[in-house]
Amino acid sequence: MISVPNPGSLATRIRAVGQKFGDRPAIWDDGATATHGELHALARKLGDCINALVAPGLPVALLLPRSLESFIGIVAALLTDRAYVPLNSEFPPERLMSICRSAQPGAVLCCEETRAKGEALLGHLPEETCLFSMEGDLLKRGEVANAVPLRGPGEDTAYLIFTSGSTGEPKGVRITQANVCAYLDSIDPLVQVTQSDRLTQFPDHYFDLSVHDIFVGLTSGAELCILPKHRLMEVTEFVRERDITAWCSVPSVLAFCEKLGHLAPGSLPSIRVSVFCGEPLPTRLAAAFAKAAPNMRLINLYGPTEATVALTAYEIKDFDAIRSLPIVPLGWAMGEQICRIDAPEGELEGEIILGGSQVSKGYINAPELNVQKFFTGADGVAYYRTGDIGRRSEDFGAVFVSRIDDQVKVNGYRIELHEIDAAVARASGSAEVAAIAWPITADGHAEGIVAFVVAPKATATDIRKACRKLLPSYMVPRQIVEIDHMPLSVNGKIDRKVLKKTMDAARP
Ligand code: AMP
Repeated sequence: MISVPNPGSLATRIRAVGQKFGDRPAIWDDGATATHGELHALARKLGDCINALVAPGLPVALLLPRSLESFIGIVAALLTDRAYVPLNSEFPPERLMSICRSAQPGAVLCCEETRAKGEALLGHLPEETCLFSMEGDLLKRGEVANAVPLRGPGEDTAYLIFTSGSTGEPKGVRITQANVCAYLDSIDPLVQVTQSDRLTQFPDHYFDLSVHDIFVGLTSGAELCILPKHRLMEVTEFVRERDITAWCSVPSVLAFCEKLGHLAPGSLPSIRVSVFCGEPLPTRLAAAFAKAAPNMRLINLYGPTEATVALTAYEIKDFDAIRSLPIVPLGWAMGEQICRIDAPEGELEGEIILGGSQVSKGYINAPELNVQKFFTGADGVAYYRTGDIGRRSEDFGAVFVSRIDDQVKVNGYRIELHEIDAAVARASGSAEVAAIAWPITADGHAEGIVAFVVAPKATATDIRKACRKLLPSYMVPRQIVEIDHMPLSVNGKIDRKVLKKTMDAARP
C-alpha cells in the first residue's frame, strides 16, 4: 500500500488526493457515496459560483448539517482560498447572528432543510452577502446580490470555529491552512490512514474534532462515513455495517455505547486504530473498548481548538502500565510541537502551555483576550495558555488534573459557565446566578447543566424557555434552582463547588 506524499498547502494536499484517488469513495452519506473525483468536481463547480459573486478572501459560512453538501462547501471554500465557518442551524438565531457579525462571511451555504433559516439570517447581514442553496442539482443558486470587497480575516485562514465565550458571546478561533497542515504532519505518522481506510465521521463540523476526520480523510484518499442523525443510538452497529477501520470521537460517545450495552468483547473487529479527544478518557472505559475492538491501536489525544484539534498523544500499549490512573494520560507533544507544564519551582503541577505551528493566530476581534492567552516565546515560537492544569510525569508525559477556570465539558461540548450565567441573568432578571456542570458520572463525565438563581423575577419554566432562545441546546440548564444567597469562597468569588455539593446531597 502506497501512502500519499503530503507536501504543500492544505489546498494543494486536498487537490492532489482528488486527482490521485478520483475513483475511490470519499464520502458515505446515508446510503449514497461520492468519490473523491465527484466531490472535487462538485466543489469546483460551487467554487466557480462563489468566485463569480463573492469578493476574494471572504469566508464561507456553512449552514449545513454533516452531509455530502457540507463537504462540498468545505472543499470549495479551501480551493478558492477562503475560510469556512461551520454554523449549527439549530443554534438560536441570536447566536448565529453574533457569530456572523464576527466572522463576516461573504457567502452562506444552506440546503433545503436550512434554507428558511439562511434567508432569515441574510436579512441581518450586509446586502452583498450571497446565499447559496445546495438543493436538487446541489448548486441551485438562491438569493444573490452583487458582491463588493469586504474585510476578511485573511486568505490563508482554513476555518473559524466559534467556542463558548466567558463574556457571554461565542469567540471565533482562527485556524490557518498552515495550522491544519501542521496537525496532519503530527497525526499522520501516528494513525497512518491510507486510501484503504474507512473513517467514522461523528462530530458536527462546528466542533473542532471534526477537523481530524475531514482533513485526515480528504488528504489520505480514505472514505469518510457520516453517522446519520437518526442512527445516534446505533453507533457500533453502524461501525460493523460500514466496516469502519478508524474511529475518532469524544469519550462521551463511547460512554454512551457502553451504557447501551453495545461494547461486547470482540464485537468490533474491523477497527484498527481509534483516537479520542476533547475530554478525559476513563481508563476503565478505554479497556472495555479495547476488548470490544481487539485489533485496534488506541490513542488518547489532547488539545484545544486553539491548537488545532490535538497536540499531545498517548498510545495505550499496555493497560497494566496505566491501571493505577483513573484517566488515560495525555502523553507527549506530537512531532515538532511543544507541550510545557508551567509548574512553580520544585512542583510537578501547573498550567499546560502548548506551542508550535499548530497554535492559532488567535481569536478574531478579541485583541485583549489574545494578549492574555497567546504569546510568542523567546524562542520565537507561538504559544497558547490552555487553562488546563496538568501534572508532569516521566512515564506518561502529561497527566490531566483539572481546569484553572470555569470552563467545563458536558457530553464533550466545551462550555464557559459564565456564558450560561449571562443568559440566565438575562432570562431571570437576577444578577446573582451561577451555573454548574451536573450531574457527574462515576467516570467524571458531566451530563448536563444546573443553574442557581437568587430572587428570580421569572418562573423556572420561563427562564429555561428564554435560555433556549439565547443558548445552544447543550448549554440550556436542565434545572433552575432558586436559592436565598450565593455561597462565596474566601476570595469573594461564587463557590461552585458548594453548589455542586448541594446538588449531590439532594440526589435521590
Ligand atoms: P475543545 O476546544 O472543544 O477541543 O476543548 C479543549 C479542552 O478539552 C481542553 O482544554 C481540555 O480541557 C479538554 N480536553 C481535550 N482533550 C482532553 C483529554 N484527552 N483529556 C482531558 N481533557 C481534554
